[in-house]
Amino acid sequence: MDNREVTEELIKALEVYEELGFTFLPLKRDRIFNLMQSRPVYAVAESREGTISEPDHIMSRDNARALQELREELGECTRCKLHKERKNIVYGEGSSDARLMFIGEGPGRDEDMQARPFVGEAGKLLTRLIEKMGMKRENVYIANIVKCRPPYNRDPEENEIAACKPFVERQIEIIKPKVIMSLGRVSAQSILGMKMPISRMRGNFFSFHDIALMPTFHPAYLLRNPKDKWLVWDDAQKVLEKLKD
Ligand code: SF4
Repeated sequence: MDNREVTEELIKALEVYEELGFTFLPLKRDRIFNLMQSRPVYAVAESREGTISEPDHIMSRDNARALQELREELGECTRCKLHKERKNIVYGEGSSDARLMFIGEGPGRDEDMQARPFVGEAGKLLTRLIEKMGMKRENVYIANIVKCRPPYNRDPEENEIAACKPFVERQIEIIKPKVIMSLGRVSAQSILGMKMPISRMRGNFFSFHDIALMPTFHPAYLLRNPKDKWLVWDDAQKVLEKLKD
């Protein structure tokens, strides 16, 4: 890289932070250079997501069919009491052969209305994060632990999680992403079966059925605590590194 390219990359890196709402740069000098050098990772991810070779294309069709069959099996689900107040089941959306999967805890009001995951204010923040990671929202897969909105956005109860979790587990099994980012405490604790606080889990890779799983904060938490955005961006950097492996 010559000086001009270094400057251009540095400007782009700073723009990422500005877009994410930072008012200061929470990186040491060596991390800045890591950030700049991670551009090729985005390019690799983009070409994997954007250009489907023939074997991937076949896999994608099979995965899409398997996801559709799973949706049909879910049906107009009444397996737990969350069905009583929902408007729509929020099954999940994205690429059926995504390399990166995001898993939240459950739909909110906007998601319940639109039957799509992460479409409210928190969803916009997640979409921005995905884009700043160099990907498109439609090339990752986004789902939740429970697929019906818990009333008043309360946490889902243990029995509700137990009823619904097999479906997200099978979505993971079908898609077989390289990395999962779980969003928030409920998501991480439910998938991993651990009670550790999210503040201790985030930033570290765990393994779920041999898939690398990075717990991080829920975007709704970041709307209330924007100063912690840099921690999520730090987690995202580790995920990008893992995708490069
Ligand atoms: S949350 Fe899951 S298990 Fe409960 S009713 Fe909705 S789809 Fe069924």
